[in-house]
Formats: sequence, structure tokens, C-alpha cells
Amino acid sequence: SKVLLTGATGFIAVHILEELLSKGYSVRAAIRSEGKSKFLREQFPTSKLSFAIVPDIAIPGAFDDAVKDMDYVVHTASPFKAIVEDNLKDLLLPALNGTQEVLKSVKQYAQSVKQVVITSSFAAVFSGPLNLRGHKTYTEEDWNDTSWDAALKSDGRVAYRASKKFAEMAVWDFVKTNKPPFSVTVLNPPLVWGPMKQEVGLSTLNTTNSYIYNLMRNTANPDPSYIFGFVDVRDLAIAHVAALGNTKTENQRIIVSGGLYTYAALIGVIQELKERHML
Ligand code: NDP
Repeated sequence: SKVLLTGATGFIAVHILEELLSKGYSVRAAIRSEGKSKFLREQFPTSKLSFAIVPDIAIPGAFDDAVKDMDYVVHTASPFKAIVEDNLKDLLLPALNGTQEVLKSVKQYAQSVKQVVITSSFAAVFSGPLNLRGHKTYTEEDWNDTSWDAALKSDGRVAYRASKKFAEMAVWDFVKTNKPPFSVTVLNPPLVWGPMKQEVGLSTLNTTNSYIYNLMRNTANPDPSYIFGFVDVRDLAIAHVAALGNTKTENQRIIVSGGLYTYAALIGVIQELKERHML
């Protein structure tokens, strides 16, 4: 089967790409520019990998060509930054419009597509506090309650979380309004940790790995009692691929979590590695 993978250069997406190829799928990887294909071609030298150039997911018609002839779409592309200049332009609109563009293009140009799997986030589920210690147990019934207006004015982290909420709401609105012939599966992971397989340098770490790097450099000032959900990026990649063609995931919203972690545990691991001169 053929899969379009959006945001294929990202931290999570490269793990999904590897999992897709290992399961025998042919993958059309959507990337922003031709130059970004070199690294992925070197990492995955197989004729089952091809590329579609989508410079900006938020532009109308961005995916019209990329979706053609696909059996599945896995949509991961979305801006994940905590520090931005403009919440609307840098986070909210690309997340929302990008997701709507994928769905619109599939509906209009790809009757072959059976299912669209979308990487939403636990950010679309919870509204804070960021420390889950002693907080309620969340389920797929829960929604982030940040308003659009509040998201416009808030700091980047709140706006990022709201961007995921509004993008996901647009998914379910689309399903309700259009009753499309394809199914939709939404995955809601909390913080994603794990090895990086994307093309990366210390100044271009993806956001979650930059949190770890800041802990290593002591530039973060963490509260050791902080507790939050996490999932290993390799498990999350398996979940994306396992959802494909699985009727149980049709039109479902699924929290994909490996459990809870504390800052104390993270700092403990970092200290131990430092003592063993491994950092
Ligand atoms: P990355 O920043 O590594 O990946 C994001 C990808 O999206 C990149 O390939 C990026 O391309 C692409 N992208 C972003 N904006 C645009 C745009 N306007 N046009 C085209 N491409 C764009 O982040 P992650 O891998 O961590 O995140 C992937 C997905 O998972 C996102 O949807 C994120 O919200 C979600 N998620 C992540 C979590 C985490 O803890 N990491 C937790 C929960 C959800 P480029 O690099 O070229 O800009």
C-alpha cells in the first residue's frame, strides 16, 4: 500500500517513516524543499521512498498533487515551537489550515485514500496545569478549553497547545460535515521522548529534545516534583502504522501514552550519565 507522510523531516515522522518502510509500505514523504530529501534518501536507500515537495502546508491546495493515488495519509506536519513572534501566523493558522488542506485535498483528489491518520496531541485534551501531579485522570472525552482569543494573546506554549486543539476540532468538524468516504484516526500523544533520527544539530533540536538538552546544560530550572505523561517515539511510530487499515481505529481519538514521568527521574538519569562520564 502507498502512504503519504506529511512533515516527513520531523522528529516523530522519521520514526514513522522507518516503521512504514519496515512493514513494506511505499512512502511518499512530503517535505518543504528538494534539498531536504538528501538526508532521508541516505538514511533509507530504497525505491519504496519517494518525495513530494510541499513548501507550506497552510497554502490552499498545498496537498492537491501529493495525495494523488495514495491508499493512506499520515499527517504529522504542524509547527511545534514554544517561542514564536506571532501566535496566529506562526502556530494557530499553519496547524489549523494545514490539517484542513490535507482533508480537503484527499476528498477532492484522492478517492483511493481509505484512511487519514493525524498526529494531534495530548495538548488538545488537557487545559493545564502543566504539572499533572494529583490532577484528574484524562480520557478521550476531555478537551483543552483554551479559547481562540486567549490563544492569540497567550505565551507560545499555550498557543501551541491551542493550535493542536483547534486543528483537531477542525478534523471532527470535517468528518461531521462531509461524511467522507475515508476514515480518520487521531492520535493524542503527551510529551514524546526518544532517539533522534531526523537531520539535526544542537541548534536545530526538535522542541521536546531541546527540553532534555536544557536539563543537561542546567539552563532549565525544573521543579523536581513536576509530573507529566510521555511516550517513547518508537512506540508512537508503531501506533501510527498499526492504526492503518485497523477498523477499530476508525473515526477514533486515541491517547497514546507510555505513562508518567517526573523531572526528578529525568534529572537522576542525567546525573548518573554525567557521573559515568557519558555526557
Ligand atoms: P518537529 O518540529 O520535529 O516536526 C514538525 C514537522 O512539521 C517538520 O517536518 C516541519 O518541517 C513540518 N512543518 C511544520 N510547519 C510546517 C509548514 N508550515 N509547512 C510545511 N511543513 C511544516 O516536531 P515533532 O516531530 O515533535 O512533531 C510532529 C507532530 O507531532 C506535530 O504535529 C506535533 O504537534 C505533534 N506532537 C509532538 C509531540 C512531542 O512531544 N514531540 C507531542 C504531541 C504531539 P520543517 O522542519 O522543514 O519546518
